Amino acid sequence: LNLGILAHVDAGKTSLTERLLFGAGVIDEIGSVDDGSTQTDSLALERQRGITIKSAVVSFVINDVTVNLIDTPGHPDFIAEVERVLSVLDGAVLVISAVEGVQAQTRVLMRTLQRLNIPTLIFVNKIDRGGADDERTLLAIREKLTPVIIPMGSTRELGSKRADFVPYPAGDPAFTASVAEVLADHDEAFLAAYVEGEAGLSYDDVRGELARQGRRARVHPVYFGSAIVGSGVKALISGLTEFLPTSQGDVNGSASGTVFKVERDPAGEKIAYVRMFSGTIRARDRLRFGQERDGKVTAIRVFADGTAVQRRSLQAGHIGRVSGLSDVQIGDTIALPREPSDGQVDWDSETRGERFFAPPTLESVVVPANPADKGALHLALTQLAEQDPLINLRQDDIRQELFVSLYGEVQKEVIQATLANDFGLAVTFRETSMICVERPIGTGAAVELLGKDANPFLATVGLRIEPAPINTGTEFRLDVKHESIPLYRYKAIEEFRKSLEATVKETLHQGVHGWEVIDYVVTLTHSGYMSPETTSGDFRKLAPLVLMSALKEAGTIVCEPMHEFALEFPADTLPAVLAVLARLRAQPQTPDVRGRVGTLEGEIPASQVYALQQQVPGVTRGEGVLETTFHRYQPVRGEFPTRPRTDLNPLNRKEYLRHVLRGV
Ligand code: GDP
Repeated sequence: LNLGILAHVDAGKTSLTERLLFGAGVIDEIGSVDDGSTQTDSLALERQRGITIKSAVVSFVINDVTVNLIDTPGHPDFIAEVERVLSVLDGAVLVISAVEGVQAQTRVLMRTLQRLNIPTLIFVNKIDRGGADDERTLLAIREKLTPVIIPMGSTRELGSKRADFVPYPAGDPAFTASVAEVLADHDEAFLAAYVEGEAGLSYDDVRGELARQGRRARVHPVYFGSAIVGSGVKALISGLTEFLPTSQGDVNGSASGTVFKVERDPAGEKIAYVRMFSGTIRARDRLRFGQERDGKVTAIRVFADGTAVQRRSLQAGHIGRVSGLSDVQIGDTIALPREPSDGQVDWDSETRGERFFAPPTLESVVVPANPADKGALHLALTQLAEQDPLINLRQDDIRQELFVSLYGEVQKEVIQATLANDFGLAVTFRETSMICVERPIGTGAAVELLGKDANPFLATVGLRIEPAPINTGTEFRLDVKHESIPLYRYKAIEEFRKSLEATVKETLHQGVHGWEVIDYVVTLTHSGYMSPETTSGDFRKLAPLVLMSALKEAGTIVCEPMHEFALEFPADTLPAVLAVLARLRAQPQTPDVRGRVGTLEGEIPASQVYALQQQVPGVTRGEGVLETTFHRYQPVRGEFPTRPRTDLNPLNRKEYLRHVLRGV
């Protein structure tokens, strides 16, 4: 069972983890968050802020089931952005505080779990604290998270150190009846049995059906307890194996897995944490990951009783630490290339259009407090980017600036603190700006012939660019005769294609207006060379020039990132809320007002999200709850924003040739 524990910050995720590890016998002493001695929470920053930055896996056995407890990465504010990493879970425990109740991030987490169809148990924590309220919390869960919950017991002495959870006893007729009613709502066959049988359904039938539906994420058992005094934890532990599914997968199928964490060992070698979904990988296998990277497995370790043990292979359903994949990134899908009968390895399985994570929509320049730290800062951020899917770097060599992309303003604070604590680097950020993209709007073509038109390179290159349907990604095709490819420079045609494709992608990172070009198909229409003088460099250097003039002809539009938002607010504050939304260029749908509470959904430019977050409390008496996630790109109205180029500017033939030829 690959299990995750998720919670709004401070609801008790770390404390509950400690309790589970203690309950399962992995640790013999319970660490305390408050004096900083927990197993999973070792980073100084995590202690200070209660944020879990790095994931870890701890393995233990309950009722003959091996449980891999996976610490999900990322600030819960951005969990929707790392959805892909959550997909490695077979089941989850969502922790909710009995005092604070359902909080903003709790909703985002539950939504994400539901979208991924991950079976989830709910643990209502902190029943020992003053102000704990079980009824109110259940009501909030039903209203704000999901109506399909089954409380598994009742509480005693709520709000005191003696607070306890009392499971409904086996055979309890009231429990049986109420559970049957909820279950019948969600399963036709069970409903039929329920209606026909009336008195016929036994406690065991109902409990069995509850397990079946729980394992399919159709219903969510709810436990109460306290991670501090330990009540309710035993019941939760037995619920894990009863109501969550163990991992399944065809060990003989084609090998496929997801990388959910990347770290470096003390010697600096990359280690990928992989969850296998099907098939088996072995040491010395050559794996493909991401779009076109590959690497050879040098070692595999699996988790057992708190440590990692070396193994020869890793099978569907299991999690392991895989060494040797030096180019691997968090979020990658790994696969064994298929080997058709002709012995030629086929690397071309479907990756097109796949988005691993929502794209970051904001960016900011990071400035070291001490200018001499530039090199160290680059190194530190590169390392963080490897480990954290939320951190992306962009370097502007010309202006000597380092950009990090951001999912939200909070991330600045997290990055700043990590750099200070883990790397001893003090930094500041410049103002945040949004990241736009460009889409081609027509078809454009250009060609440069060898020996003609002052083409200084020993190659002919003709390229056509056309728009691809929205969200289908990028594609590069060859439409030339094989004789026109200098095969003495490449091992195979596919290698030639890949090499040119890399150049095309690199070039289109900056379109006509300086933004990354997305959703396009580029075709090589002309190719030519002069044997034996032509080198791969001639193609590589000529292609950007041709491509950019094709792109200029096609024309592009600049699109800005839009977030979708959901806002909950006191009904009487609706006019003020609408005024703020209008000011921030949001496009709200019709408000839904029920009693005292109103909700509004809609779209808002990413650039305005922070302002909205800032203004919501003011206009809602502090009661507003806002959620936003990236939704789509929308053409910018009016003048297009531009981004300064950081490349050799192939848009300007003269300037480009001057730069490139100087290097020749
Ligand atoms: P996380 O941010 O979700 O990992 O939450 P922590 O486990 O770090 O807990 C946040 C704070 O709540 C700490 O001060 C804990 O001591 C406290 N806490 C966690 N669980 C309980 C509980 O069941 N009862 C009480 N009274 N305090 C708790």
